[in-house]
Amino acid sequence: MDEIKRLVLGEQSQEDEVVSLSLRPHQLSEFIGQKDIVAALKIAMAAAKKRSEPLEHILFSGPPGLGKTSLAHIMANEMNRRITITSGPAIERAGDFIGILTNLEQGDILFIDEIHRLSKTVEEFLYPAMESFKIDFVVDKGPYAKTINFNLKPFTLIGATTRSGLLATPLRDRFGIFHHLEFYQQEDLALILKSSAVKLGVEVDAPAADEIARRSRGTPRVANRLLRRCRDYAQVKAGKNHIDLNIVLDCMKALRIDEYGLDDLDRRLLQVIKTHYQGGPVGIEALSATLNEEVDTLVDVIEPYLLKTGFLRRTSRGRELTELSLKHVAS
Ligand code: ADP
Repeated sequence: MDEIKRLVLGEQSQEDEVVSLSLRPHQLSEFIGQKDIVAALKIAMAAAKKRSEPLEHILFSGPPGLGKTSLAHIMANEMNRRITITSGPAIERAGDFIGILTNLEQGDILFIDEIHRLSKTVEEFLYPAMESFKIDFVVDKGPYAKTINFNLKPFTLIGATTRSGLLATPLRDRFGIFHHLEFYQQEDLALILKSSAVKLGVEVDAPAADEIARRSRGTPRVANRLLRRCRDYAQVKAGKNHIDLNIVLDCMKALRIDEYGLDDLDRRLLQVIKTHYQGGPVGIEALSATLNEEVDTLVDVIEPYLLKTGFLRRTSRGRELTELSLKHVAS
């Protein structure tokens, strides 16, 4: 996947993985924005500490790159507990899971990213583990089948999902705490950018930070990535370690990211609805086929920002353009 596309998709590139370790906030006090969630988590942690109990299971939902993984790390750090990280697709069989679960110590955090992609069997296996910290594992088949019971130490499961709607109700009901992360305000993104610039050792002017924030799709991961691209641009094109507004504008032009933060793929999606489907409504399957992009990518990553900013409307009959997008596509 090319860099431009990655920017839009907000997917984690290898570069992101490495850099995000250094940019990731370690304490709740460093976590910018999402004030209500931060306040609620503070109370949950203080209460758990007071009772000397593990935290309740927590579910974070929201588009990629908004800080779900960062929050899980922060919770482990603030509770002074270990964190084990895995993801829905990585746990193929219930058996794979036993090692992970039995290794958890009292109060440890198990973070499962993309929890909506757990297989049905693994999911059902998780229910008693979450509820009563027990698992029953059946070995062998037919007349030789034996059930082995494992008692687990009380742990906290933190699940992250881009699509809470795909989570089975019994799984959702087993989380005591549920938070949906919203896109960030521009001011919060500018604060995140300033703090990332300090960590990266690059200077960024206030108007430059504001401009990057404006084009970051309300998403800290995108903001940090654009900041790194601007840093490259400043160092290579201008030979300085200082990002000013002109550098940002030139860099965004080169990356073909417009003043709303939309890039080629967003514009192509809007253009396709306009030219192929007369502005809509059009079903997501048809859009996916025309654009040659996966439905999941469109629904999880591209659409949320377009819906939020009023470029797209979702109706019972499909997606349609709005006045804003009709104007934007024409221009
Ligand atoms: P998600 O798990 O939701 O996909 P991450 O937790 O991996 O998102 O966040 C992506 C990157 O964005 C992190 O590496 C971190 O640097 C940055 N980030 C996310 N939220 C915040 C925040 N509120 N304050 C500062 N940085 C943030």
